[in-house]
Amino acid sequence: MRSKGINVESVILIVEDQTTDALALSEAIRDLGDVHIANDGPSALALARQCKPDLVLLDIEMSGMNGFAVCKALKADPKLCDAAVIFVTSHAQTDNELRALEYGGIHFISKPLNFPLARAHIKAHLALRSAAKKLANHDGLTGLPNRTLLQDRTDQALQKARRSEVRVAMLLLDLDNFKSINDSVGHSTGDALLKEVAVRLVQAARALDTVSRQGGDEFIILLPEVSSFELVGNFAERILETIAEPFVLQGGRYELNASIGISLFPDDSEDVESLYRHADAAMYQAKLDGRNRFRFFSADIENSTRGRHLLEQHMRSALGEGAFEVFYQAKVLAKDAVVVGMEALIRWRNKDGSLISPPEFIPLAEATGLIIPIGKYVLRQACLDAQMLIEQGMPVVVSVNISAVQFLEESFLQMVQDILLESRLLPKFLELEITEGVLARDVRNTQNVLLALRKQGIRIAIDDFGTGYSSLAYLKRFPVDVLKIDQSFVRDMLVDKSDAAIIEAIIKLSQALDLELVAEGVETQEQADALQRYGCQIMQGYLYARPVPFNQFCALLDSGGMKII
Ligand code: C2E
Ligand code: CA
Ligand code: CA
Repeated sequence: MRSKGINVESVILIVEDQTTDALALSEAIRDLGDVHIANDGPSALALARQCKPDLVLLDIEMSGMNGFAVCKALKADPKLCDAAVIFVTSHAQTDNELRALEYGGIHFISKPLNFPLARAHIKAHLALRSAAKKLANHDGLTGLPNRTLLQDRTDQALQKARRSEVRVAMLLLDLDNFKSINDSVGHSTGDALLKEVAVRLVQAARALDTVSRQGGDEFIILLPEVSSFELVGNFAERILETIAEPFVLQGGRYELNASIGISLFPDDSEDVESLYRHADAAMYQAKLDGRNRFRFFSADIENSTRGRHLLEQHMRSALGEGAFEVFYQAKVLAKDAVVVGMEALIRWRNKDGSLISPPEFIPLAEATGLIIPIGKYVLRQACLDAQMLIEQGMPVVVSVNISAVQFLEESFLQMVQDILLESRLLPKFLELEITEGVLARDVRNTQNVLLALRKQGIRIAIDDFGTGYSSLAYLKRFPVDVLKIDQSFVRDMLVDKSDAAIIEAIIKLSQALDLELVAEGVETQEQADALQRYGCQIMQGYLYARPVPFNQFCALLDSGGMKII
């Protein structure tokens, strides 16, 4: 894309009906840019529309449309009129020269061409042109794109977004209290600070984003391809953090903050003008709300991202305050109601005592990385509780859900080992539940981790089996001990023939591969009976037991409601 960068190649168009002359000239200036050749006027105009030349080397004497006519047509076309025209002719009379200039040419070269001299002229013109272009499109202090170039890029981004249905975000950033800082430190330090801000903004942005300076302490960042507003919020947060890092320059240390307003196409703005106006209004709101923050223009977007933000903050403090608990649900051998295992399921207890269920916070915990400490807490608690049961003469295997984020973390294996040591639980009493997605992600790494776990004697279960990447080949490749049939199949197996068929197939598969099988979400006796007929013996579901706190789980076992093998 020619217009995107600063040091892009110039495009040169040679218009010359003598092919040998054209080729010789093209050869002489080959390294000055991207050279195109046309042999007559009409094809020159057509080619110019395609290649958008910076410079046209235009022969005057051509049959049909002569050079003057071509120049006139170029200058009349708003898309082409910016191209610089240098005439080339063997009839170097004053008349011709004057006419050439009148038509908007900037220079005149005589034939036969003195190639080194022609080349030097052309090179000088291109350099001038690119300097002028840069001046017109960039901010003198920071070298960032200015308002004009931003406008252009925003236009392009919107055109593309309309075609491909992506979002475009505009972030308007205004430094907080910069005027008083500038007044107190002096303008040269103020300028140095602005330059440093520009550097940090560029570093934080992606290559396809445009960071521009509007003047003063106001910057605009254009994100041309945005897949979700959460990502825009995260980006704004990152920008605020990077600006808040102290600036150390010229022997001084300076602290800055910024307020950011965000508008989005097509959610709240439909063109360049409204994007700017709305980003400005949102920035103003950010200032009113106390500065050093970002605001979306759209109240809906603001609320939904703020909701996530709040949830994340609550989750962090919940971890510190011990608001997470581990519940246990029994896995039962159906024919004689013997408990063969328990699954650890996390719960988050609200201040008012109510419980928040995992689907409401696990996805965000995964996205923010909080799943690592949360998952570690669950594993540790589950191992300690299982060991306590064993010491009381009730040996039960405990299953712990491991999210992909946790599993792929470098220190995962070490963490599991440390917890086993600390809890003194034998590895054969620990089962880790992973989903099919984990197996599909990073095959080599996953294989190594699973082999290492297996070597220690830890069991591996595939959770929600049948819903993920239905490639069965991996079952052979990975050391797996258990398949858990996803509850969606169990729920509908009595009414939906295809669900019943899937369950039958999974059961046959597990028998062929000698894997243990657990059916999840068993709620009725009919489901349990049908599953047993197909050959599945181990069940988990409300029919047998709901997930309950550890002390209730102990009481359930003690009361003999369900036996332990
Ligand atoms: P999952 O691993 O498939 O866990 C089974 C879910 O089904 C649990 O929901 C359980 O309460 C529920 N369930 C059990 N029996 C029945 C039944 O008969 N009928 C119905 N309708 N539901 C039943 P829960 O506890 O809300 O957990 C949901 C999901 O959150 C889990 O699905 C698991 O993917 C995830 N999760 C739970 N705890 C953890 C954890 O400690 N770490 C990670 N990474 N994920 C967890
Ligand atoms: Ca599970
Ligand atoms: Ca499951």
